[in-house]
Amino acid sequence: MKQEISFIPREELKAKPDTASLGFGKYFSDYMFEMDYHNDLGWHNPRITPYEPLTLDPSAMVFHYGQAIFEGMKAYKTPDGSVQLFRPEKNMKRFNESCDRLCIPQIDEEFLLEGIKQLITTEKEWVPDGEGTSLYIRPFIFSTEAYLGVRPANQYKLLVILSPSGAYYGSQLSPVKIYVEEQYVRAVIGGVGHVKTAGNYAASLKAQKKADAGGYAQILWLDAKENKYVEEVGSMNIFFKINGEVVTPKLNGSILPGVTRDSVIELLKYWNIPVREERISIEEVFAAHKRGELEEVFGAGTAAVISPVGELTWKDQSITINDNQIGQLSQDIYNELTGIQLGKKEDPFNWTVKVTSVEG
Ligand SMILES: *Cc1c(COP(=O)(O)O)cnc(C)c1O
Repeated sequence: MKQEISFIPREELKAKPDTASLGFGKYFSDYMFEMDYHNDLGWHNPRITPYEPLTLDPSAMVFHYGQAIFEGMKAYKTPDGSVQLFRPEKNMKRFNESCDRLCIPQIDEEFLLEGIKQLITTEKEWVPDGEGTSLYIRPFIFSTEAYLGVRPANQYKLLVILSPSGAYYGSQLSPVKIYVEEQYVRAVIGGVGHVKTAGNYAASLKAQKKADAGGYAQILWLDAKENKYVEEVGSMNIFFKINGEVVTPKLNGSILPGVTRDSVIELLKYWNIPVREERISIEEVFAAHKRGELEEVFGAGTAAVISPVGELTWKDQSITINDNQIGQLSQDIYNELTGIQLGKKEDPFNWTVKVTSVEG
């Protein structure tokens, strides 16, 4: 059922922040997309409405039982001034997978994407155009029904907010220090680690604090059962280049299936570089380093696109990867993906989707 998206104007527009001061997740645009769900009405009242605080009942079920999911994607300004998205249909599909796992009613993927496009068109002035900048798009759903019994809620709200974000890196990709967590786990098979639900991030904070205190940028998570197999890093998937071949942990039900991960795999296949998705233990990674075969390690996710790992610490062993320099393959993948995203390179995969055409 297609519905009209209504528009509620705001009285005054905000002042736009300086591109240099953007950072990540600090500024929000003038409008948001909003839609409500009620068991009797389905998803209804889609609207583009002023970005403003919400009023929720203290017994809104999300506060108590945590039915909250989200997505993360970006809109990019291309050299000709048009705005485009990168594989947004994959985010819509994953959003519905998160809905399914958390017993949240399914959304119409095409309709939501249309709503996001309309929102971005309304907010096209908010898409920054400095080097490395983008408009971060955060769709999310949470339960709103006022009730204290444990069961799936009968009422939800879906919002899409927009945040202009600055360049993740300065002039160059910079390798990060990562530490292998052994005390805490991120996700278990059969649990919710394969979907983007808020609780996963709450559960990761304690280990992240430990990492911060030790001077590490991120955590490398191991599997919850044997504390042996590599899963992923913070909010990125992980890749290892060992003796000319690329390996990334196979999706197993506790790893988040990243859109960037999938794009890296597709790109490597296109380049005829051997790439395998398989279970890999942390021992194997350290053994490959000992043999002198661990050539590159990098994370892949929407925020940083590619994040080279320069140092890896597991128990009391620390290894330096590629002399703490950016690997050639990491750099090539980064250049190719960001080139496609920004409309500066050919897109042989048809990954980009135009939101607005050339301005003027
Ligand atoms: C979002 C996310 C990723 C990366 O997914 P992308 O679609 O590439 O941004 C990886 N791991 C976790 C835990 C995530 O939340």
